[in-house]
Amino acid sequence: MKSVKFLKELPKNEQKKFFESFDTVFFDMDGVIWRNYDPIPGAPDCLNNLKKLGKSVRYVTNNSTRSCENISENLKNCGVEADVSDVVNPLKSMIFLLRKSNVTDPMYVMAPKSTKKELEKHGYKILEETAHGDFDQPSDILAYHDSAKNQKIGAVLFDADFNIDYLKVQKAYWYLKYNPKCLFLVNLMDKTLPVGPRGPILGWHYFVQSVRELLKVDNVDRSDFISIGKPSKVVVDYIKETYNISQPDRVLFVGDSIETDLVTASKAGFQKLLVLSGTDKLESLDRWQYPDHYKPDYIAEHLGDFNDVLKNLYA
Ligand SMILES: [Mg+2]
Repeated sequence: MKSVKFLKELPKNEQKKFFESFDTVFFDMDGVIWRNYDPIPGAPDCLNNLKKLGKSVRYVTNNSTRSCENISENLKNCGVEADVSDVVNPLKSMIFLLRKSNVTDPMYVMAPKSTKKELEKHGYKILEETAHGDFDQPSDILAYHDSAKNQKIGAVLFDADFNIDYLKVQKAYWYLKYNPKCLFLVNLMDKTLPVGPRGPILGWHYFVQSVRELLKVDNVDRSDFISIGKPSKVVVDYIKETYNISQPDRVLFVGDSIETDLVTASKAGFQKLLVLSGTDKLESLDRWQYPDHYKPDYIAEHLGDFNDVLKNLYA
């Protein structure tokens, strides 16, 4: 069994060895740097201190509701200088995949307006969505079949679309069925979204599953989607290629979620540090239910703690 170490409890020489063992740090954002964009105490100072030590600091989020420009602005508001190129979001890794896959046909995009705009900015055609009618019978839906069948589509994307409905799901299935090379892209597979005291609200899991079910029932062998966010291979490939990472063991990944962050870091061969300020708490480690190699190498309560260790050594 791999042993897990609390960074704060390590002897000073081991803490120093840890800080000397990486040149680049990737940070997840929600639950690590901020909660609902409120910085976690000590986190901004931690990022700045790591930079002062000469470390490259970058960010990897699965949050697609804000642009990378917006995120870098938010960091600046917290006192951390960050370039747009330092931030990775699912949109960037998706565009990387679309380029590699030579997608030229229009895309069917169920996503926020900002995502559609960004895709268009990168030269991708988005299929115009016509206003939907007042449906009452199966024939009302089937009226859309022929035009869907004849429509060339290069990729279907399921993202944070709050206007998703019956016909959109049905069309997504038709596009995937009739375009054998069409990419089936999914950003979010959450079943529910924690949104504070009025929540939870419904996530997109069930819509994606509906399309997969239709494909399965119809014996269309296309039910495997490509995930574009963490912990997918797409993100790992994007990070490694974009930042020219030749020595993954000299990279540290800091996250709050075992299933997204630690799995991403494991796939990439990075060192892993889990903070307990977000999704996973100590109980998740006590009741470990994943392969052993996903375990974090180090733990800190939060980035404030991580920062205290750093300051004690280098101040
Ligand atoms: Mg997180």
